Amino acid sequence: LTKKEEGEMIRRANALENDGIDTLRKVSRQEYLKKREQKKVEELRDEVLDNLYMFDGVKLTETEYQDQRNKVELVKLLEKSVQPDDINEYRMPEAYDQEGGVNQDKRFAVAIQRYRDDGAAEKMNPHGEQDAWEDHQIGKAKLSFGSKNKKQASDDYQFVFEDQIDFIKASVMDGDKFDNDLSPDALEELEAKTGLEKLQEDRKTLPIYPYREQLLQAVKDYQVLVIVGETGSGKTTQIPQYLHEAGYTKLGKVGCTQPRRVAAMSVAARVSQEMGVKLGHEVGYSIRFEDNTSEKTIIKYMTDGMLLREFLGEPDLASYSVIMVDEAHERTLSTDILFGLDISRFRPDLKLLISSATLDAEKFSDYFDSAPIFKIPGRRYPVEIHYTRAPEADYLDAAIVTVLQIHVTQSPGDILVFFTGQEEIETAEETLKHRTKGLGTKIAELIICPIYANLPTELQAKIFEPTPEGARKVVLATNIAETSLTIDGIKYVIDPGFCKMKSYNPRTGMESLLVTPVSKASAMQRAGRSGRTGPGMCFRLYTAYNYHHDLDDNTVPEIQRTNLASVVLSLKSLGIHDLLNFDFMDPPPSEALLKALELLFALNALNKHGELTKVGRRMAEFPLDPMQAKMIVASDKYKCSDEIISIAAMLSIGNSIFYRPKDKQVHADNARMNFHTGNVGDHMALLKVYNSWRETNFSTQWCYENYIQVRSMKRARDIRDQLEGLLERVEIELSSSPNELDAVKKSITSGFFPHSARLQKNGSYRTVKHPQTVHIHPSSGLAQVLPRWVVYHELVLTTKEYMRQVTELKPDWLVEIAPHYYQLKD
Ligand code: ADP
Ligand code: MG
Repeated sequence: LTKKEEGEMIRRANALENDGIDTLRKVSRQEYLKKREQKKVEELRDEVLDNLYMFDGVKLTETEYQDQRNKVELVKLLEKSVQPDDINEYRMPEAYDQEGGVNQDKRFAVAIQRYRDDGAAEKMNPHGEQDAWEDHQIGKAKLSFGSKNKKQASDDYQFVFEDQIDFIKASVMDGDKFDNDLSPDALEELEAKTGLEKLQEDRKTLPIYPYREQLLQAVKDYQVLVIVGETGSGKTTQIPQYLHEAGYTKLGKVGCTQPRRVAAMSVAARVSQEMGVKLGHEVGYSIRFEDNTSEKTIIKYMTDGMLLREFLGEPDLASYSVIMVDEAHERTLSTDILFGLDISRFRPDLKLLISSATLDAEKFSDYFDSAPIFKIPGRRYPVEIHYTRAPEADYLDAAIVTVLQIHVTQSPGDILVFFTGQEEIETAEETLKHRTKGLGTKIAELIICPIYANLPTELQAKIFEPTPEGARKVVLATNIAETSLTIDGIKYVIDPGFCKMKSYNPRTGMESLLVTPVSKASAMQRAGRSGRTGPGMCFRLYTAYNYHHDLDDNTVPEIQRTNLASVVLSLKSLGIHDLLNFDFMDPPPSEALLKALELLFALNALNKHGELTKVGRRMAEFPLDPMQAKMIVASDKYKCSDEIISIAAMLSIGNSIFYRPKDKQVHADNARMNFHTGNVGDHMALLKVYNSWRETNFSTQWCYENYIQVRSMKRARDIRDQLEGLLERVEIELSSSPNELDAVKKSITSGFFPHSARLQKNGSYRTVKHPQTVHIHPSSGLAQVLPRWVVYHELVLTTKEYMRQVTELKPDWLVEIAPHYYQLKD
């Protein structure tokens, strides 16, 4: 049979089978294709493996090879344990990088010298690829590619860019072609329509639309339903609307949780647009410190953390008729806890939908007593996967080079690059702007769109705007674009293979944000972002060997790599005491649970029987980490709650307060240092920023003059207002001691005493409770001062383990405030 005939037969068979909900769990076309794809991947892998066991140029058996590799791993591990700074290293020695194991015949890098000629752009068509390849082969004889060989160009060749990266095409993720795409005529007709009408038409083209009735029937028949479907099929935006149209909102709200703030906001905005209502009215969102809903709201998008908070206040979630836990495969802490609490058990009439993009569906189904799984076949096209030939020393640079390479050599289509965070994205944006400016009109327009959690909402919308003809869009995104946001028109994905992940060491109780290699599941998901509207390409900035041997299969659920203090406090305030027997989907290490109990006890939130104290009950009211909550509760005693909530609000907006324009860095740094006069420490500096702004009556001009982001400040003001409201709720009076520096510092210490560190002879610090070497972050006002004792807000691991937001402390405060935690030596 031809592929098409085969497809037709399977489709018919499926049509017969898919008749009733009962058969939903039988093998669907999707599943069949997935199996087939898996088989293909396995075959390919075997082929690769055959050529793989080369060590120092000698072919070994698998066991011998594994043995050698283990030795190398061991050495690597040993090195790591001696040199913690190298933890960012993620790279194999050249010797292991397999050569020739995979398909090499098609190269991504094409001869750039063509571009030298005027009108070269016309020649750069996809059909010219073979020519380009030949040129490249010829060129290769004279030139050496690869980012490490800078500028070896002879006079004959003039590079458009200094560096090139050599990619190997490795495999194709087979797609799942559907021919229900619209014909050009139909498209034109659609374009003629405008506004709401067009949006309504658009809704009908989403892959989920044909399954609307079946889905509603399934929701009616079952209390808990697991829904799986490709990213972009319409789960997040459509299902709540279907439920509304079917009348569920007459019984209560439809709530839909998202693991990320940006997703909750963006999706709510989209749905309100589709429904033609004002955001915050019928459709709203709720994220921590920002509630954009009203009495009218019937569809509410929210972060999973917010639903957990609501659950604390209203354990039967009486105001909801349906809860959809979206992106459940992300396995965030709050999602896992919500599952453990089994939000459906008090209310047989509450519908619970669990949606997930990947293959974890069976696991969710098993957990919810074999809840049925509803599969939405998605549209997916094949994606070509390319790996780098050699490991890249600097993935940020490699990503930028690859963007430019794609831009000048590949056919139209937008690019999506995954970075680990805001700082990286900003650097990449700068560099790209700089480099494209240098190239002037030699290249087509490149529209650069960053997207990350702290990005102002109006700028976020930019990523969804269609790309003008002749231009190309490059979206620089954090993990948020992996599944939470669907961006249309992406044809190329660049995956450096890293993400920022919280990690927690239960032994020391230290939590830090680490840049870590992604899992295979993540890498697949990222690649899949390119095959949504047509065949795609994914460029992985690591080798095939790295992918197969160094990446974990799945991302570890957050609950197993986080500080559980906050969760334990919430559960305790819900009256759940037996935490060891709590129904976790994947239980956290019991060590981590004990550590959390220990910390809460030290903070005075629990008594020695593990029961919530009055302090603990007050702390649980604040949507903050327990140490911050304790700092606020303690400020009552030191009569400085006014100062402390300002500090807490400023800490909550993170490090987006100051900005440093490239051309005015000295001015900006001077302005910033002004707030540090007297070496008061970072917390006091934050307070000074807030108070100075308040004194100018919240002036925008003042922010501008001081290189402070007014948007961040406004957010801090909102947060502060809410904290003030919560103070009242827990009956703490607003009190101020403007001249009592020590009172404020003591309140901070009351919460953060577990984060204290002592200066060492070599200028580094050692944490007090569980000794570990740390450093003051260069951005701190105390980085040059090096006080003997400090208390810090958080640790971040970049090149070193850094303490961010640091304040000086007197060691006897530790004994005064936490005598059960610290004792004076002799
Ligand atoms: P899923 O949840 O299944 O991944 P979504 O419901 O998020 O899918 O998205 C379905 C479609 O809606 C996307 O393909 C995209 O075209 C469109 N869409 C979603 N959010 C936005 C937005 N904020 N702006 C424009 N289009 C959007
Ligand atoms: Mg979604």
